[in-house]
Amino acid sequence: MVKMRLFIPGPTPITPEVQKALSSPMINHRGPEYEALQSEIIENLKKVFKTSNPVIVFPSAGTGAMEAAVVNFLSPGDKVICASIGVFGDRFASIAKAFGAEVVKLDFEWGKAIDPDKLKKCLDENPDAKALLMTHNETSTGVTNDLKEIKEAIGDREILWIVDAISSLVAIDLPTDELGIDVVVGGSQKAFMIPPGLSFLCVSQRALEKSESAQMPRFYFDVKSMLKSMERNQTPYTPALPQLFALREALRQILEEGLENVQRRHQLVGEAIRRGVKAMGLKLFGDEKYASNTVTAIYNPEGIDGRKLRSLLRTKFGVVLAGGQGAVQNTIFRIGHLGYVDVIDALVALSALEMGLKIMGYPVELGKAVREAEEFIAREVQ
Ligand SMILES: *Cc1c(COP(=O)(O)O)cnc(C)c1O
Repeated sequence: MVKMRLFIPGPTPITPEVQKALSSPMINHRGPEYEALQSEIIENLKKVFKTSNPVIVFPSAGTGAMEAAVVNFLSPGDKVICASIGVFGDRFASIAKAFGAEVVKLDFEWGKAIDPDKLKKCLDENPDAKALLMTHNETSTGVTNDLKEIKEAIGDREILWIVDAISSLVAIDLPTDELGIDVVVGGSQKAFMIPPGLSFLCVSQRALEKSESAQMPRFYFDVKSMLKSMERNQTPYTPALPQLFALREALRQILEEGLENVQRRHQLVGEAIRRGVKAMGLKLFGDEKYASNTVTAIYNPEGIDGRKLRSLLRTKFGVVLAGGQGAVQNTIFRIGHLGYVDVIDALVALSALEMGLKIMGYPVELGKAVREAEEFIAREVQ
């Protein structure tokens, strides 16, 4: 047999404690145990989002909370700017379009971050835009936008700032209140290290005020009805209990380690992977200045079929990597390194990759990437 090891940007591996929590017996979701469960979860989520504003949990894929981030605060015909650097930025634009927004699409070359000067120009040209939709960490390209740069570009404009942080939250610092982000979207199966099926929405007071007059249709994802139920630590419909048991446990583990330590761990893993990949002679796809610490996108090596390479790594070594998405589907492959991941996992991924390339006849010197990463790690963890 091979031992399977997930290196995809979600779903990510889960801890034994979370695995155990998932098999807890059901409780009455209208009883006191549930109220304590929800109360603890919301309190801890606020710590992760670094906010004093409400955080809502939806039983849905991350895309559900993206939809909630659009329909609760906008009306059909509203102009919105969608700054996109990849697949998930494009998805935000598609959702806004589907609900009748007038989308001004601001596209950047894939692999690059949002250029704050171009964003500023777009904001100047569209003073009537009601919202700016963007991705914090673009999972399809391995690029993390710099939110401080974006904040500066926005300046003191009235525009509602809506950020998809599904693949960054927990792993990459996101001080919601300090930055003044109006709406932040999260998802369970990335750095929260629990299975897919929950999404999160952090909502500022300003956004809540907008929701009063927002006309887009909504029911399941209605923030107002959620918040009303949440006053009594309840939900407007049946909550996803197993997911919530898992989330309670994962949040305890995250906060016990300390958010800063969690983020430092992701930084070390990300850096080790990038150093190793380059030492192997491979080329990173994303702009290194904005390199993501949760997912690394790499050009398929010259003459190597990325799909065959990934298939070999999976069958021989149990190392599961992700392919490219959208326009770069056949150009790149990706290593996910978020959630329940540590520096030794980085060595495992690099080692498998070196051997896989060797088997496929690509000129690599075995051990070079691993050595490079080990030297970096050994220096850093002293
Ligand atoms: C994974 C991901 C999504 C989509 O999440 P689903 O749970 O698949 O709906 C959206 N945005 C980003 C940045 C992601 O990484």
